[in-house]
Amino acid sequence: MEKLGIFQNALKQFDKAAELLKLSPDIKELLTTPKRELIVNFPVRMDDGSIKVFRGYRVQHNVARGPAKGGIRFHPDTNLDEVRALAFWMTWKCAVVGLPFGGAKGGVKVDPTTLSAGELERLCRRYFSEIQPIIGPEADIPAPDVNTNSQIMAWFMDTYSMNKEYPALGVVTGKPLEIGGSAGRNEATGRGIRIIAEEIMNYLGKNIKNTTAAVQGFGNVGSFAALLLSEECNVKVVAVSDVTGAIYDPEGLNIKELIEYRDKNKGVIAGYPKGQKISNEELLELDVDILVPAALENVITAENADRVKAKIIIEGANGPVTAEADEILNKKGIIVVPDILANAGGVTVSYFEWVQDLQWYFWDIEDVRRALAKIMKKAFYDVAKVREQYNTDFRTAAYIVGIDRVYSATRLRGIYP
Ligand code: NAD
Repeated sequence: MEKLGIFQNALKQFDKAAELLKLSPDIKELLTTPKRELIVNFPVRMDDGSIKVFRGYRVQHNVARGPAKGGIRFHPDTNLDEVRALAFWMTWKCAVVGLPFGGAKGGVKVDPTTLSAGELERLCRRYFSEIQPIIGPEADIPAPDVNTNSQIMAWFMDTYSMNKEYPALGVVTGKPLEIGGSAGRNEATGRGIRIIAEEIMNYLGKNIKNTTAAVQGFGNVGSFAALLLSEECNVKVVAVSDVTGAIYDPEGLNIKELIEYRDKNKGVIAGYPKGQKISNEELLELDVDILVPAALENVITAENADRVKAKIIIEGANGPVTAEADEILNKKGIIVVPDILANAGGVTVSYFEWVQDLQWYFWDIEDVRRALAKIMKKAFYDVAKVREQYNTDFRTAAYIVGIDRVYSATRLRGIYP
């Protein structure tokens, strides 16, 4: 079988919902086509005096509901197709949780671990200057994603502010607290997953306490999801993994200790002395109640979906389950809570950060957590209701909610001129 590209995969998900909504071909074209795609090739002076040219992207998919919003990823495999798909998902995600944002995403094709601190800073500042013509607090607001963090957001904010000659806190989110970051942004995506996990269990008439979970990816999303599931919901997290491999303990892992270990060991869990070493593939096939893929896209595919034994998959990553895998999982009765709902906690607290920056007035962590829980729970039940109404799966229901909201905004605004 020919493997679908990541954007094609995303379109297949959209098509299923579009069919139920009976969207006409012209509206489908309007809603799926990215508004703007920027490719920048730019030089960076390396420490040894040589010059290296890097390629970066920023795609704005749709801005019918508000300024474009979406993270920036640094990865050697990043390409236009991937960034386009990620921007597309941001449009529906922001609409599903009801934020006044459109969808965007950015990326630079680079392995940041091969750069010195100085090289990384120069790359960040030059890339941000290159995409600046389409960025701004009222136009497009980036955030962290894979291999980017709050320090990188600080450099982005400073670069934009220097170029504009005024401090523009609201130009990126995920910043350090000292320069306009929000309390609770670090944990936000993981906390959103923990909220959704509890809600889906309630919805299914089950108790989340003492259930088991496996989490793939131990970065921002995966580690906070694992920590909050274990500490706040009494979930037994039996396996976690990162790019170096997975660790399994049927009795449950000590997530706090694993995070401390990772932070002292170059950001990876390799060499952690407890538990049993297994592969990332084996982790995905463990017999657990909840599986949280929180690393990269396309990890559950037509090839391994049949071997997945989890009862519920909560997508921490964007696009971890392919369209073909979805069909197999649906047939097996495995519930998939889709990325555009499950991992929306990050962009929701990014929205709070942007609101705080624009008002120069900052909230405490309790306010952030309360507001996040309210939005995530409402989104969950909005989607669950549509799922029942259309007798469909959670992913298609989430698309229906998102498409309906974006289409309404488009209709109301009309087609310019
Ligand atoms: P991160 O860079 O903080 O962490 C990524 C983790 O995945 C690391 O532990 C890394 O070692 C691991 N990993 C990389 N390749 C792997 C592989 N082949 N197998 C297993 N593990 C691997 O990134 P993040 O911010 O946690 O993002 C993870 C996913 O969540 C991405 O899909 C991202 O788009 C999505 N996401 C992130 C946010 C956010 O707020 N950061 C919000 C929504 C969605």
